[in-house]
Amino acid sequence: MSISSSYRNATLLRCERAPYSFFSAASSISWGRNKTFVGRTNKQISVKDGHGAVWRISFVVASNIALLLIGPCILDLDFWLIMQAFRAARKSLCRVSSEKMDALFRIASVFQGGISKARGPAATLSFYLKQLGWSIDRTGQIHLHAFLSFHFLRISYKRLLRFAVQAWQDKLMTVHTQRFRLFSFPDIDRVSTVAILKRFSSGQRWHLIRDISGGYQTQQQKHKRAFDADPSCNFCGQPDTKPHRLLHCCMFASTREYHQEIVQYLNEPDCLLTEFPVCFVGPHTDLLLQLQFRNPKPVFASEALHFVQSKKLEQNPVHWFTDGSCFHPENPCTRYSAFAIIFGLASDDDERKFWGRQCAVSNLVPPTLTRAAVGRTSGEQGSSC
Ligand SMILES: [Zn+2]
Repeated sequence: MSISSSYRNATLLRCERAPYSFFSAASSISWGRNKTFVGRTNKQISVKDGHGAVWRISFVVASNIALLLIGPCILDLDFWLIMQAFRAARKSLCRVSSEKMDALFRIASVFQGGISKARGPAATLSFYLKQLGWSIDRTGQIHLHAFLSFHFLRISYKRLLRFAVQAWQDKLMTVHTQRFRLFSFPDIDRVSTVAILKRFSSGQRWHLIRDISGGYQTQQQKHKRAFDADPSCNFCGQPDTKPHRLLHCCMFASTREYHQEIVQYLNEPDCLLTEFPVCFVGPHTDLLLQLQFRNPKPVFASEALHFVQSKKLEQNPVHWFTDGSCFHPENPCTRYSAFAIIFGLASDDDERKFWGRQCAVSNLVPPTLTRAAVGRTSGEQGSSC
């Protein structure tokens, strides 16, 4: 029930965005009776009616934040189009000759300008990469982070999507919303925020996302758009702001008594949650990302190598086992994992079973199992990345 409700809401939001997003695909299209589309920016579309008057229609830009947080995918159609373009480009490039591939990467690496100057697949690919703040060089390496590069065709789609989501959320506030007050805030940590939102019921989650997206306006916000709106709180007459509603309004004093610890935390002067209740990207995120991709490869013990070589000369198989563990698995951004590679010394299955039964009672590691190497996982951490 909750899944279908969430899916329905997500579908409705995507449909609401669809007409606006696809306007960018045409320079002039018919728009209803006697109306012609004449332009689009990130903030609004312009439509000219039959009398020549131009109407400017603002997007519900705050919905971009909602589209980011509904999860598991970003529902913004602009983002969806970029990923579809990457998918199509990778599929096509796998079928062309190396000469054509080199030519495409060469053109893409030097293309400058916007979508109006893009005249072919290479320029269009370069344009979409730039939409995410990325670039590509003549060898096909895409630079998607200050210290990380991957080949456009050899990076997995899952990893490409992960970094694309990261890039999208990095510029969400400044490019895709009009929440000027939030421009100086840290970026949203989408994965952590979505993980916390998932703990609530579907109905509660929807209200929370609406609040994060600015769906519930205070009287002061209404007053900025309509001067006849009263900026005062409906309950106590004080200026109606988010901090007032959450921390000061006498109407909700009894509710705050049950949550004194969090109220105290929210009252701290540098707390940003009263204005924007999301998880923020931490100051060590980039460092952590670097560490994840710079973990050294495991080194095999010399005894293990000698054993394997002798088994190979005897033409006997070697039985390998792997095991791993992950700390803080609930959060893909901060979890970290390690693994061990074990090989078996038992000469046959009977010996392996014997020592297995013997050690199962005392919960010891069978002497026939020897560690060959241990290491930390490189790249995405955990088993479900
Ligand atoms: Zn009040």
